[in-house]
Amino acid sequence: MLFDTHVHLNADQFEDDLEETIQRAKEAGVHYMTVVGFDRKTIPKAMEIAENHDHIYAAVGWHPVDAIDMTQEDLDWIEELSSHPKVVAIGEMGLDYHWDKSPADVQKDVFRKQIRLAKKVNMPIVIHNREATDDIVEILKEENAGEVGGIMHCYSGPVETAQECIDMNFMISLGGPVTFKNAKLPKEVAKAVDMKHLLVETDCPFLAPHPNRGKRNEPAYVKLVAEQVAELKGLSFEEVSEVTTANALNFFGIKA
Ligand SMILES: [Zn+2]
Ligand SMILES: [Zn+2]
Repeated sequence: MLFDTHVHLNADQFEDDLEETIQRAKEAGVHYMTVVGFDRKTIPKAMEIAENHDHIYAAVGWHPVDAIDMTQEDLDWIEELSSHPKVVAIGEMGLDYHWDKSPADVQKDVFRKQIRLAKKVNMPIVIHNREATDDIVEILKEENAGEVGGIMHCYSGPVETAQECIDMNFMISLGGPVTFKNAKLPKEVAKAVDMKHLLVETDCPFLAPHPNRGKRNEPAYVKLVAEQVAELKGLSFEEVSEVTTANALNFFGIKA
């Protein structure tokens, strides 16, 4: 049994075959998923999917790329949704220096506001990081985010930073890149980090694991991520599935 901790089944890419995609995931042993909404369009869709499916949960937050669009109303809306029984985390939030739609100072402000909100409602956070590792760790420390903890989603930084995050009560979630032949860091992290701090995810429809790289990603493929983690750690696939699923259920506070 697997838990895909980060999916965007609410993306346009799944509009035509959402139910079939969920069915394929079930057939691949993916019993649980967390669908992530990060703006005015994807949050309602994430809520709808979570409400209509057993074992599918939602995370709601505001993406750093669109930080410049977030209003106080949006923040209040996220706070309101946080009390919904299917909402298990706030996010994704963080910093993304790859795209320049939102200036860094605006991204940082929106990130801090969401950490404070998560602490107010006592929920863990989901962190999106692109080319911003140092600033993210600094803000997590300054805001004392360890109080609620969270997930470093699709983690691709160095082992030392992973350890710093673990020390702050964060889980390390590995995605498709761990299966890429040229991805050195995620493989090192998979080997070094203790199983009790690891989760698996697809981040679908993006970042499809090998050998589906470049295609539309989907939750069924999280199996490929777990298989790669098993190989790197010298464990069985069953063991990795079992432990990462138990970690996720425990982390999100879900009673199996
Ligand atoms: Zn992300
Ligand atoms: Zn995402």
